[in-house]
Amino acid sequence: MKIVIAQMEHETNTFSPVETPWDSFGPDGPYIGVQAYRAMKGTKTPIGAFIDAAEKVNAEIITPVAGFAYPSGPVSGAAYDQFCDLIIDGVKQGCDLIMLDLHGAMVVKNRTLDGEGTLLKKIRDVAPSVPIAVSLDLHANVTAAMVNNSDIIVGYKTYPHIDMYETGALAGELLIKLYRGEIKPTMRWNNIPVLAQTLKMNTSEGAMKDYAERAADSEKKINVLASSAFGGFPMADIPEAGMSAVVITNDDGDLAQNECKAILEVAWAQKESFIWFDEPLEEAIRHAKTLQEGPILLLDHPDNCATGATQDTMTTLREALKQGLTDIAVGPIRDPEAVNDLIKAGIGSHVTLPVGGKTDMPAINKKGEPLELTGVVTNITDGDYVITGPQFTGVKASMGRTVVFDTGNAEIVITEKLQEPWDQGVFTSVGIEPSTKKYLLLKSRMYFRPVFLPIAKHSVYCAGVGVGSSDWTMFNYEKIRRPIYPLDDFTD
Ligand SMILES: [Zn+2]
Repeated sequence: MKIVIAQMEHETNTFSPVETPWDSFGPDGPYIGVQAYRAMKGTKTPIGAFIDAAEKVNAEIITPVAGFAYPSGPVSGAAYDQFCDLIIDGVKQGCDLIMLDLHGAMVVKNRTLDGEGTLLKKIRDVAPSVPIAVSLDLHANVTAAMVNNSDIIVGYKTYPHIDMYETGALAGELLIKLYRGEIKPTMRWNNIPVLAQTLKMNTSEGAMKDYAERAADSEKKINVLASSAFGGFPMADIPEAGMSAVVITNDDGDLAQNECKAILEVAWAQKESFIWFDEPLEEAIRHAKTLQEGPILLLDHPDNCATGATQDTMTTLREALKQGLTDIAVGPIRDPEAVNDLIKAGIGSHVTLPVGGKTDMPAINKKGEPLELTGVVTNITDGDYVITGPQFTGVKASMGRTVVFDTGNAEIVITEKLQEPWDQGVFTSVGIEPSTKKYLLLKSRMYFRPVFLPIAKHSVYCAGVGVGSSDWTMFNYEKIRRPIYPLDDFTD
């Protein structure tokens, strides 16, 4: 048995000014060929699970490419073409099965609003009879093209995503069973017109928990092979943005259809619960100041790079310093210019310079606003560290060259590259022990949870500025299907 295994992961925020070239899909661009195998084997990711599943049945494995980029603006056409060419070349060499680790919300500049669906269609065109399994993120905006051009789709059941490996393991296992004739996967999908906010998609709380649990219950039913409840990705101005469900049964189309409907009804009935309302930033910081015991998390979620934000807006830090907060660790802020200047100055130097705010955000009518700061360079590193988990465990992370800039009240981690604070490594790798700080200002929305909540005494959501904002009124949707909640009123 010969299996093509590949990864092409990107969540596209169509409002983001951050570019997504080929190079952004890995430390030095995507891994190609045997490098992809070596880099991804042993990781707790879907592609890591695919490799394990294939090796368990002694299959020959071909890994044309593996690339994961942070959410950002539309992927460059050249990068997308290269992914497609590599995967299709791999398939054309002849294979029995195809396993793809995709995101499900990729938009490509000048090519397609549905990167995954278009790729799958291209594969089907050259290998119409080869079964395909796909793992998707919970934030996938599932399309008809994805479902019609694959045999198995399984999505993450958790957010934060701590079941990446399990998702790949299930998709891979079902595909191998299909190949052996042990099952006849029958897949159905549906969507509802709800543009849920990612801040309301924590699968351990509220309506999202009910929705995710309904899918988990569905999966326990006889003849149901996989049930996935997708939250969707709302910062995507594409027709299919929003919530959807995919159910696979063993040769029972009606059951699959009915389960899809039942899962989505749970979300539709509570649609108001998926909308987030911000507390004004000044009030949030004032509240944070009254709290005694640290660490207190200041969650600058609108500038969360894991949603495609620029990770350099300074509004929240400016307000925190203005209100006199001290003993803050900030991390990370992306500002390659400042990194360069501070490295030139060297460790121990006293420097005054503009930090952050170097990127304009035309989609939300905001200019970048740097914050003039004076401080000391206390550390310089290459920015490399290995994620210790529990999400992306074992993956090598690269922040680019990284500087710690200490203003007296704030120790700021400034990086060359985008980096979600998804691991304590963003601080510990540069010599800051986060558990000892009074405040941790994190440009994070959800990934901080499994990592920083266990050491935190409080967390405060800060409505700073950014294209990852959960305030849907800031965005001008033009291509999304209408009507859709909450852009349109469904009270009638
Ligand atoms: Zn996600």
